[in-house]
Amino acid sequence: MKVMGGGVAFESDLVEQCPDCQRLFRDYEAVTLDWFRVQGQLRIVEYSGDDESSSRIVAELSAIADRRRVLREALAEHVERAHPRQASASSTLT
Ligand SMILES: [Zn+2]
Repeated sequence: MKVMGGGVAFESDLVEQCPDCQRLFRDYEAVTLDWFRVQGQLRIVEYSGDDESSSRIVAELSAIADRRRVLREALAEHVERAHPRQASASSTLT
């Protein structure tokens, strides 16, 4: 069984068994949800033509994207180091 979230396919039994995977995966999912939430806000302010809010939200969105990339790399790195047999699963992270 796979856990799907934000383009991530990850072995759920691995996440259940390893506290580091649990923590990293939970953080990654939280940031992914944040990203979708802020992107929704951006669509709204862009539609209303509020340039000031829109550039503030674009900056926020790019900070979230950075955090998401860092977490994704940390997760992939952890899987490679701690679970080399499952390392191929991390290549499905987008
Ligand atoms: Zn792990």
